[in-house]
Amino acid sequence: MKPISKSSKLADVCYDIRGPVLDKARQMEEEGHKIIKLNIGNVAAFGLEPPDEIVQDMIRNLPSQVAAGYTDSKGLFAPRKSVVHYTQEKNIRGVTVDDVYLGNGASELITMSLNALLNTGDEVLLPSPDYPLYTAAVALSGGTPVHYLCDEQSDWMPDIADIRAKVTPNTKAIVVINPNNPTGALYPDSVLREIVEVARQHQLIILADEIYDKTLYDGNTHTSIASLAEDVLCITYNGLSKNYRSCGYRAGWMVVSGEKKHARDYIEGLNMLASMRLCANTPGQLAIQTALGGYQSIKDLVAPTGRLGRQRDLAYELLTQIPGVTVVKPKAALYMFPRLDPKFYPIQDDRQFAYELLADEKVLIVQGTGFNWIAPDHFRLVFLPNSDDLKEAIGRIARFLEHYRKR
Ligand code: PLP
Repeated sequence: MKPISKSSKLADVCYDIRGPVLDKARQMEEEGHKIIKLNIGNVAAFGLEPPDEIVQDMIRNLPSQVAAGYTDSKGLFAPRKSVVHYTQEKNIRGVTVDDVYLGNGASELITMSLNALLNTGDEVLLPSPDYPLYTAAVALSGGTPVHYLCDEQSDWMPDIADIRAKVTPNTKAIVVINPNNPTGALYPDSVLREIVEVARQHQLIILADEIYDKTLYDGNTHTSIASLAEDVLCITYNGLSKNYRSCGYRAGWMVVSGEKKHARDYIEGLNMLASMRLCANTPGQLAIQTALGGYQSIKDLVAPTGRLGRQRDLAYELLTQIPGVTVVKPKAALYMFPRLDPKFYPIQDDRQFAYELLADEKVLIVQGTGFNWIAPDHFRLVFLPNSDDLKEAIGRIARFLEHYRKR
């Protein structure tokens, strides 16, 4: 029989958060091992449940909505209207219901908007490290991912000079993930304004991922880059997965704002792709309306005494006690991206490093190169497990590193 191969479109597509190391972990679980999973921001898996108000509305709505069937491709009017109100709260001007698309999570909309945009050879500027869906989706869409550096020495801020140096006549868009996964960075307005300036000068679309915009520590606040870029075409992605701990509901949205007049053809493309997938799941759409309309704040969790606030502090304290490990304390989101000093840990292949940590200590992390980081000297962990599990997990990482150093 002729072998059946994957399409050549997938040749440069990689998504290591759910890659081969996770397959190995699954196999170990099947063999009866208990693994501590610090690999995925699956909030619900750590007992951080969706707000009760959302759950109750979901239950109440389910019978009538399942019976109602498909919705408009962009989504139901009322939840989209609630997204419009959200954009008003975030000072993004000129957004109407027509500019809002609901999706089965932000992921679907990210892929859709890149697919609608890119021709072969078109370049998209992406942060390094990044949330790897972007690099994968650019590659799948036939585009070329071009990574700009985020600088660990400056709290992982985007290096504006590097961004400028990497703009070419083929650059179509720049992705800004703020708050950032995997670094936990939160960008000040001054940095956002500099990025807007580059986009303005070179007529780039800004693709802004703001899915962690309420998951903020230390009393920080978040600015939507679209609120600073009225004269630039912006697409802002958000959803319920993180801020509302509802990732299983697959409920996300994207908002087109700014300079829309010259983007009619692109918007037609977005509409076409939205129609092709018919619509987002209806219960998830209604959950958006409940979430944005009601008070179910994440504030209690991110406060210094809240569960996420405490776990962030604990993970930071424990990691920084390990020789040769440094980490920028995250200002937002659910992740840390620690550095392993190569003088202590001369890692050649960080996926192999992740395998060995899993095999020896039953702790699952994701290697830094899985986030398109430039060197095998970082890894990402989520600080979602409760304090006891975090202590246990970081203790095991410390023990593994001690042995690694002495090899
Ligand atoms: N964007 C970022 C930066 C993320 O970290 C994630 C998930 O981890 C997503 C998007 C995916 O969100 P959704 O669950 O809405 O598809």
